[in-house]
Amino acid sequence: MLHIKNLHVSLADGTEIIKGLNLSVGKGEIHAIMGPNGAGKSTLSKAIAGHPGYKVTKGSIEFLGKNLLELSVSERANAGFFIGFQYPLEIAGLGNEEFLRAAIDAKHKALNLPKLSDDEFNKKLENAMQLLEMDSRFKERGLNEGFSGGEKKRNEILQMAMLEPALAFLDETDSGLDIDALRIVANGINNLMNEQRSIVLITHYQRLLDYAKPKFVHVLMDGRIARSGGSELALELEEKGYE
Ligand code: ADP
Ligand code: MG
Repeated sequence: MLHIKNLHVSLADGTEIIKGLNLSVGKGEIHAIMGPNGAGKSTLSKAIAGHPGYKVTKGSIEFLGKNLLELSVSERANAGFFIGFQYPLEIAGLGNEEFLRAAIDAKHKALNLPKLSDDEFNKKLENAMQLLEMDSRFKERGLNEGFSGGEKKRNEILQMAMLEPALAFLDETDSGLDIDALRIVANGINNLMNEQRSIVLITHYQRLLDYAKPKFVHVLMDGRIARSGGSELALELEEKGYE
C-alpha cells in the first residue's frame, strides 16, 4: 500500500521537520503512529497528502505502485489517499451534503466511474450517517460550521465512509471525543476496514486502540520513526512515557 523511504520534509522557511523517515504499510493493516507533540506526525500526513506548505526535499513515497510525489493533491486523493484532519476547517456556506456530493462526483469522474444517481448517493449518505449515528440535519449545515470538536471529528469519518479511500491517515481523530463518540468513531473505522484498505491512526491514547486494534505501533520522535512494535508497544508507552 505505502512505502516511505528516507523521507525529509521541510517547512517553507527551510526548517526540516521530517528527517529521514521510513515507514511501510501493507494492505488490510491498521497502524498507529504515536509520539510527543511537535514530533512531526501532522507534518508527515500533510506531506503525503501534498500540502503545498510542506516540501519533500529528499526520499521517496510509493503508493499502490505509483510514485506519489509526482502526483498533484487531487490525483493523490483520487488514487485513494485520505486524510482526516487534526483541525478540520469550517467552510461557512458550503453545505455538508453539497460538499460530499461534489467530492464523490469529482472522484468518480477522475476514475472514469459512472456518476452516482441521486438515489444511490442518498442511500450511501444515509447508510454512512447511520453508521456514525449522525442526525440528518448535519446534511444541510455548513461544512463543520459551528460543529463541536467531536462533531467535526465524526464528520471526518463520514467523509472517509463516503469516499472509501484505499489508505486513510486519521490525525488525532479520537482527541476531544466523549466516550460514546469514541466508540461510534472506532466502530466506523472497523466497519470500513477490509483486506484492500489500510488505516493509520495518529493518536496519543490507548483507548482508541482498544477498539481499533493496530497490527503495528510506531513512535515518531524528532522527525523519524524511533521505534516500531506490535500493539503491546502502545501499552508500554502509556506506562513508561516516551523518554
Ligand atoms: P505533531 O503533529 O507531531 O504534534 P506537527 O507535525 O504538527 O507535530 O509539527 C511539527 C513541528 O513543525 C512543530 O514544531 C510545529 O510548530 C512545526 N510546524 C508545522 N507546520 C508548521 C507551519 N505551517 N508553520 C510553522 N511551523 C510549523
Ligand atoms: Mg499533530
